Amino acid sequence: MCGIIAIAGDRPVAARLISGLKRLEYRGYDSSGVAVVGADGSLSRRRAPGRITALEAAVAQGPIDGVLGIAHTRWATHGAPTETNAHPHQAGGVAVVHNGIIENFAELRAELAAKGRTFATETDTEVVAHLIDDAIADGLAPEDAAARAIRRLTGAFALAIAFQGRDDLLVGARKGSPLVLGLGDGETYLGSDAIALAPFTNRVVYLEDGDWAVLRPSGFQVHDADGRPVERPLIVTSASAAVAEKGNYRHFMEKEIHEQPETVAHTLAAYVDASALAAHPRDGLRFADIDRLVIVACGTASYAAQIAKYWFERFAGLPVDADIGSEFRYRAPALVKNALALAISQSGETADTRAAILECKRQGLATAALVNVEHSTIAREVDTALPTLAGPEIGVASTKAFTSQLAALAGLAVAAGRARG
Ligand code: GLU
Repeated sequence: MCGIIAIAGDRPVAARLISGLKRLEYRGYDSSGVAVVGADGSLSRRRAPGRITALEAAVAQGPIDGVLGIAHTRWATHGAPTETNAHPHQAGGVAVVHNGIIENFAELRAELAAKGRTFATETDTEVVAHLIDDAIADGLAPEDAAARAIRRLTGAFALAIAFQGRDDLLVGARKGSPLVLGLGDGETYLGSDAIALAPFTNRVVYLEDGDWAVLRPSGFQVHDADGRPVERPLIVTSASAAVAEKGNYRHFMEKEIHEQPETVAHTLAAYVDASALAAHPRDGLRFADIDRLVIVACGTASYAAQIAKYWFERFAGLPVDADIGSEFRYRAPALVKNALALAISQSGETADTRAAILECKRQGLATAALVNVEHSTIAREVDTALPTLAGPEIGVASTKAFTSQLAALAGLAVAAGRARG
């Protein structure tokens, strides 16, 4: 994981991008960076290893600003967490930030090196900047150059791209990694999640896998993987920046531990009616008619799945497989057709869990997902999305999201028990 934020605006962006990065720091950080296009069209970068405050110091020492910029907090996968390997990466007049892994970067790098291009970093990401710059050198307009480059990429990516000489144009793209588009007043934004954009706007568009978008201060156009212009729904999100602040606690994990009486109660209330001693029925879950429940999850969520297995079997007589997403996707699971597949993921973005639930869907199973982030990728791809109402979990070690998963699963196990008599 890492965080991306970008602004195509009409007022200075550098300080706002850096404060946006601070809201994304929970997604991982070992280094960070920012690039802006100045009023004279120049593209300038500042990068620093360590925490965002190190980047802040670098910008204070060598100020840069403009009305358009991209920024990134990195969690390295390819190349050490050094200043050189920190994003944005630049080739010619193209700057790129990236969340994910470009799986075919070695082939692309060899191909570009054969054309005489030299690489400054050890990252997989740098090839993206070169591919786009190469297409511009072939005479393509920046957005067409970006589209041509994106088509060559395999792996997972969320990208934000800025161009020298263009302080009115951003390109964003996603496949596998999350990216949200925001619509403000005379400004547009890209962010890894809605919380990062919360101080700027609550009007967001979730890009679908394979989508890429051209952003200008006045608005944006989304294209699907085939390059066709598409409309994606504009959503008014309830994500708020305040929830991503620590208050009087020393750190987020402590704050989130103390939120549990509230978050567990809130989630339980959504699944059970305590006064009537009944579970709320959930549309789309045909517990009475299925022969098996297949739960896929990773990490902490998989512990919730293992506990829930006992509950569904005990209260509902429903056989349960609790599978680890990262194993499931690499074996050949023999699935009972008349089963419900349930994914559990706090973020709703866990790549292995997502691959597992999509495999269940491909095999014709009904699918549901228990997620904490409304409108997340997994939530949008299953038949039935079920919420855990824990609020944003910023701490890396799961606390309140885990107990809310258990609260929801307990409610569902009771609902299944009732439905099955
Ligand atoms: N793979 C890229 C890198 O190592 C991006 C990692 C991230 O998502 O932060 O630089």
